[in-house]
Amino acid sequence: MSQNKNLQFDSKCIHSGISEYEFGPVVPPIYQTSTFKFESAEHGASLFKGEAEGYIYTRMKNPTIEAMENAVAELEGGHKALGCASGMAAISTVLITLLKAGDHVVCSKSVYGPTMTLIHSVLSKFNIGAAFVDSDITEEIEKAIKPNTKLIYIETPANPMISITDLEAAANLAHKNNALLVVDNTFMSPALQQPFKFGVDIVLHSMTKFLNGHADVVAGIIVTREEEMYLMMRKVLNQLGGVIDPFNSFLVHRGLKTLSVRMQRHCENAQLIAEYLENHSNVKWVRYPGLKNHPNYQVGLKQHSGHGGMISFELKGGFKAGETVMNNVKLCQLAVSLGGVETLIQHPASMTHLSMGAEARKSAGITEGLVRLSVGIENVKDIIEDLEQAFEKVKEKETAKV
Ligand SMILES: *Cc1c(COP(=O)(O)O)cnc(C)c1O
Repeated sequence: MSQNKNLQFDSKCIHSGISEYEFGPVVPPIYQTSTFKFESAEHGASLFKGEAEGYIYTRMKNPTIEAMENAVAELEGGHKALGCASGMAAISTVLITLLKAGDHVVCSKSVYGPTMTLIHSVLSKFNIGAAFVDSDITEEIEKAIKPNTKLIYIETPANPMISITDLEAAANLAHKNNALLVVDNTFMSPALQQPFKFGVDIVLHSMTKFLNGHADVVAGIIVTREEEMYLMMRKVLNQLGGVIDPFNSFLVHRGLKTLSVRMQRHCENAQLIAEYLENHSNVKWVRYPGLKNHPNYQVGLKQHSGHGGMISFELKGGFKAGETVMNNVKLCQLAVSLGGVETLIQHPASMTHLSMGAEARKSAGITEGLVRLSVGIENVKDIIEDLEQAFEKVKEKETAKV
């Protein structure tokens, strides 16, 4: 692993986490086994005592999983990583490890929905308090900190407004108040943003998204900066049981090899599409970190090296226009999730947030014409052409009405 230290990031994507295996395979084999044989009673005993290096049981440690974990830890510039069964398994493991009854969390308001529900409805059962704030305004984080705040939890950029939180400012605030800063780095991936460089304590991901990148795996990962935290997390993960399996680890490790080139294309495509949308008569506004009108554009420049593949925009014509676009796109796939090679499109008001009702959507900032685009790595001309013909349908409908 260590001979990769001096490599450039894109070379690390290809060579990280690879060690020597029997027969000299170029990629780590899939050790699809739940358990490992001991050579003798003494060998078993020394493994359990931690005196011998080796494997006991896949929930605890497995060579295929370990290879992928080493790769992600190296790409994030962290110490060690823990592969989890999903992004939510990573998030719940981190929160349960770090918090106890009586503690308080300050969490970004625009955090991933199930993360908010976990903190709000599950952790509250264990007397863990929480404040949800507009973390893109650093003062709002500061105002919410209480004497028992042990953790600040943010995502940047985050849905639905692709809002950006200043990582360095948030880390300084956390440490000044004896709290830890946890960052969900799913939207950027280490190819574009490495939160440890800004003093963040724990980085986690839904690897379901950009890290795997091919929409065929659900997985998560926790990356720590030092051994003590790693061991603490490993113990709790082993007890909670939300570990990744060897086959999914293999797929993610394969996906990592193209992370750098994929992210480059996601960024190029998204920038062109954001500019196209910004100049479109059907579109009220566009939110993308690469547009100068993004409220935290300067903060973004400081902490990420590319603007990512996620765009939000508001259609003129509200709910109906949103439905029409959804029903007429052909190349863009109607689906939740993000970060895969294929472009995905989603209209929260008629899909993920339909059951909330219009009033609740309004107070949550989900406008009726809001569209979320996870820009894929197709040829950008094809994506724009697809959006254009769907926008034309909105215009046709409007003209028909008059
Ligand atoms: C998808 C997602 C998650 C949850 O990940 P799963 O793999 O679906 O459990 C967490 N955070 C962000 C930002 C996500 O996009």
